[in-house]
Amino acid sequence: MKSDVLIIGAGGAGLVAALHAKEAGADVKVLTKEYPTRSQTCMAQGGMNAVLPNSEADSIEAHIANTLKSAQGEADEEAVRFMCGEAPNAVAWLDSIGVCFSRTEDGAIAQRTLGGASAPRACYAQDYTGLKILHTLYDKCLKEAISIENEKIFLSLLKDEGGKVCGAEVLDLKSGEIAHYLAKAVIVATGGYSRIYESNSTNSTASTGDGIAIAKRAGAKLIDMEFVQFHPTGLKSSSILISESARGEGGYLLNSKGERFTDELQPRDALSRAIHSEIQKGEDVFLDIRHLGEEFIDKALPQERKLAKLYENVDPVHDLLPLRPVAHYTMGGIVVDHTSQTTLEGLFACGECANHRVHGANRLGGNSLLEIIVFGKEAGLHAAKYAQAQSFSTPVEEKSPLETIDSYENTIDFYAKHQELGDLLYEKLGIVRTKHALEEVQAFVEKTFEELPQMGVRDTTKEYNTNRKEFLEFINMLEVSRAVVDGALQRKQSCGAHFMKEEEV
Ligand SMILES: Cc1cc2nc3c(=O)[nH]c(=O)nc-3n(C[C@H](O)[C@H](O)[C@H](O)COP(=O)(O)OP(=O)(O)OC[C@H]3O[C@@H](n4cnc5c(N)ncnc54)[C@H](O)[C@@H]3O)c2cc1C
Repeated sequence: MKSDVLIIGAGGAGLVAALHAKEAGADVKVLTKEYPTRSQTCMAQGGMNAVLPNSEADSIEAHIANTLKSAQGEADEEAVRFMCGEAPNAVAWLDSIGVCFSRTEDGAIAQRTLGGASAPRACYAQDYTGLKILHTLYDKCLKEAISIENEKIFLSLLKDEGGKVCGAEVLDLKSGEIAHYLAKAVIVATGGYSRIYESNSTNSTASTGDGIAIAKRAGAKLIDMEFVQFHPTGLKSSSILISESARGEGGYLLNSKGERFTDELQPRDALSRAIHSEIQKGEDVFLDIRHLGEEFIDKALPQERKLAKLYENVDPVHDLLPLRPVAHYTMGGIVVDHTSQTTLEGLFACGECANHRVHGANRLGGNSLLEIIVFGKEAGLHAAKYAQAQSFSTPVEEKSPLETIDSYENTIDFYAKHQELGDLLYEKLGIVRTKHALEEVQAFVEKTFEELPQMGVRDTTKEYNTNRKEFLEFINMLEVSRAVVDGALQRKQSCGAHFMKEEEV
């Protein structure tokens, strides 16, 4: 199996990269471990930031300033300028391929205010923005006859004798067979790693950081892994996200006494800490959107109402929504330059798994959908250009990760270990951190690595072995957790989402 450009991941970033690589003349193949339309991008609700032409209330300079302020000195200004400057084109492109953005009465694309933004800037499709974008991208890929293979699990990167990445080793979930996909350029677009926090996360169960762990094992550099964004408003028992758009449309936060205690539209790191501190005082925290009225809620926030009823058994038209902050977005990732090239030759990365240094220590709501469109395009174009100058090379033979794990015995349940890890990370590598707590996490992670040979796969079936797939994901999450805790220990000062509390003596 050969292609000029091999893209791993069929979320927003992967599909945008595929469309642009194809347009640039490359033969493209996309692989995904689930189905493209289920990729986490479909969960994005609130919107995508862009200052639209003729906006009087807003400016690209304001978008840049808001992004840099939220990033707290950890973003690359040039990259931020590029992203914000490209935002109007990105929305126009999505509009042109059929994304059904919500409209104002005079037919313009409607915009709402998300946290940390100085003006209404997020373009949206009700509160189904990511779903509409992803499904339109997928339709467009089908129309362009781009080859997309589902239920293919990326296991490792293949390199030639010179150390250049020349393909990927992949497990076919259905058949249980392993295959080598050769390519002149590989793009990793496998999404973020918030599921290391297990159920204390808004993310899809697929957000296990596979691409980051695999790139790291192959020698790629990672950066800022300790910057994990906690979303202030996850539903208390299910961790399902209640989008920032609910606050953008006028929702209030209340404590158990029915008092407002903070500014609801401050950036996520500060708001999560304000809620965390209220919870530490023994208060429950709620979102109140009842005053917006049923008609408005059903028009502007239909998904929030459905999710709250389904997962928390409360109807926000009549009831308060019980909340807590949960892991939501991972700013850290694979080091890339402005052409999305990683530190390994032949390997590119885009989307949440990559770090284009546009979010710094705290991402602004609405900037991730923007990033995947803007840098997905860059990755596709640059990988296609790079591939044009290459020929296929022969990979060096290496032991497959499957051979190693298939020899493990099964005396420890890795599912229980994952929940234990997730709860420990939430408590000790969460919104507020201390050196002592981080060292406890580090010790747990290292001990779990030692125990891996006792956690093997119970199900020995060859076809459709989801137990094996989930064990591979668990090992990747452990690898990523190690990078997060190591990064957190190295960064001594508080910054954005990494908040260190002085130890009490
Ligand atoms: C509930 C929720 C709401 C959000 N709302 C917003 C919002 O309003 N605005 C905003 O800007 N951002 C929002 N975000 C963030 C945004 O949706 C994500 O950051 C973005 O969609 C990530 O896109 P991606 O293409 O990088 O990854 P994903 O969409 O996660 O896609 C990753 C792809 O990689 C594949 N993959 C992973 N591992 C493997 C493997 N081992 N082998 C093969 N394939 C693999 C997956 O199957 C998938 O196809 C939200 C996130 C969540 C969870």
